Order: sequence, then C-alpha cells, then structure tokens
Amino acid sequence: MLTKRELKLLEKVTQIDAIPGYEHELARFVKAELEKYGFTIVSDNLGSVFGVKKSVAQNAPRIMVGGHLDEVGFTVREVNEKGFIRVDARGGVNANTLLASRVRLTLDDGTKLIGSVGATAPHYGGEGNPTLDTLDFDFGFISKEDAAKRGVRVGQMIVADGPFTVLNDGKRLLAKAFDNRYGVFMALEMARHFANIDLPYDLYIGATVQEEVGLRGATTISNVINPDLAIVLDCSPARDNISSSEQGQLGDGILIRYLDRSMIAFPELLTFQEKSAEAVKVPYQYFHSPGGTDAGAIHLHAAGVLTLTHCICARSIHTAASIVDTSDIKNAKKVLIRMLKTLNRDKINKFKAARR
Ligand SMILES: [Zn+2]
Repeated sequence: MLTKRELKLLEKVTQIDAIPGYEHELARFVKAELEKYGFTIVSDNLGSVFGVKKSVAQNAPRIMVGGHLDEVGFTVREVNEKGFIRVDARGGVNANTLLASRVRLTLDDGTKLIGSVGATAPHYGGEGNPTLDTLDFDFGFISKEDAAKRGVRVGQMIVADGPFTVLNDGKRLLAKAFDNRYGVFMALEMARHFANIDLPYDLYIGATVQEEVGLRGATTISNVINPDLAIVLDCSPARDNISSSEQGQLGDGILIRYLDRSMIAFPELLTFQEKSAEAVKVPYQYFHSPGGTDAGAIHLHAAGVLTLTHCICARSIHTAASIVDTSDIKNAKKVLIRMLKTLNRDKINKFKAARR
C-alpha cells in the first residue's frame, strides 16, 4: 500500500496535462520539487528538466535517473462549420479507445475546456472501425466562428480526461498517463530520498520531453548531462489482460526489460538489477517490448552510455484509463534506492570494462 503522501503526488502528476512539445506545466512542477530538495536545475532548449546533486568526490562519475514528462494526446488540426474539432495525434493512440471519451482542451491562457468525442448511437448502427481522422471532438461550439471567439486555434493541446481513482482499497490505481507519470513520480521520490545523503557520484534526476514522438528530449539532454550511467524509468504495456504470455503481469514485480525496439539491454546491468531486487526481497519478471524507451537514445549518446531501464507494467497504457498495481510501484522504489545506494566509480568502471 502506498502512503497518503505518495498517492497525493501520483494524483498530482497524473492529472497535469503534458503532451509532446507541451510539457511546460508539468516541467514547472518538477523543477519546483527538485529545487525544494536542493538540486540545481539543468535544462536544455527542448525543455527536459533535471536537477543535479554534486558529489563531494573530485571528478565524480555522473549518473542520470529519469522518466519522461509527456503523455500521448492530440492537437487541434481544424474546426469545421458545425464547430467540431479534428485533431492530429501526438504519439501512438488507438482511435477505438476514444469513442465517447471526455476530453480536455487547453487554451493559450491555460483555460481548460471539457468536451467529448462523438460516437454513433446504437439506433444508427453503432460504430465501425473509427480512424482518428474521422473522429469529431465536440466542445459544445455551435460553429467555427464560435470556437474561434472562445480562443480555440490550430495546435492547441487536447488530452483524454482520466481522473485519478484508488481501486480495491489501494491495491491498484486507475488514471490517465501512468505512462509515464510513474517515471516522473519515481524520479521525484528519488530526489526526496537522496536529498541529504552523500553519494560517490553526481546524481542527475529529472524527466525528458518528447519521448512519445521518438526520444527527442532524451537525445538533447544527454549532450548536456553526458552521463556515465543512466537509469530510465518508464511504464510498459502489461500483457496479462490480452494474451497468455507470462511477461508483463500486473503485481508480479519490476520488469527486467532485456529487449525492445530501441535497445538491447546490457547483461551486466540486468544482473545488477536482479541482484539488487533479490537483496531487498522484491519479485521481478523478464519483459520484452515491441516499443522503446528513452534508453534507446541515451545509450547511443557519444561513445555509448551504460543504460538500464527500471520499469513496471500497466494495463491499457496510451488510454485515459490505465491501471497499475501499487505493490509494483513500492517494489520498484525499493530496488531503485538499493541500486543508487550501491553504485560507485568501481562498479561503473567494471560495467564499462565488460564491453571493452
Ligand atoms: Zn513511456
């Protein structure tokens, strides 16, 4: 079970709207939290936000721990004569998951408007196979002019509304954007935990922008941080509700993500992750993914960076109704603290030497 404080933080970060390229509201929140814990802010021109806590050791190695700020969503493409909005997707979204959903549009001044995605009534035969191009986003406007008068313009952010809800006495949680507010939450929890602990390395904690459209923020911020080792926090798609695969079971512990489309994992780091989980008696499961994470960009930075993912799985990611297991979150936190406590220059050099 998570504490009240942890639940409050998860609610806060899942309910802020942040799609690729429009992460500023969430970035501002993360920045303020990192400053609260005494970290010095490091950023770049795309908008990723990290904080650094320097080691007292001279020329200490750099460790980067982070999630991504952005969630999948939409932007306004055009408004038609009836006042319906057609959209462009930001990131991978299945149109089937949107019919009759409540959606939220953010105007330039930050005002939020609530609307719905139109669905065909059963009286008229129900819905076939919708594509994003044919969905009407209806915010109650009576015409194109009406929408313009209200301040709607091309490019504004829309997300599917997914309130934060505690399920089954706190065993599970339902909300939008656990991919990847799990990572944002975990990064902030690490900043809180290590705020007053001396470490033998410079610790960079934070979150990237534009992961969902191709790891773009991770690419640029790696040039600023230049990490010796990176741990990427992300939320992977569970399989326990869609297939008989053993990989990706909610509640079965952290994911040892050995393979995905963007990185072949470093075996030495996977072993370190497994040993760390065993040391704090946390269950783990192997996981392969047809997707990728920021690790895909970070491990290719400069001459290559030792990179490990530290993920949990959630059901129905990239929808407004994703579900996570709170014991997975608790366990992921335990293992991450253990790894960060035991990492040092020697270990990093050994991991590096294994490849040379
Ligand atoms: Zn993600």
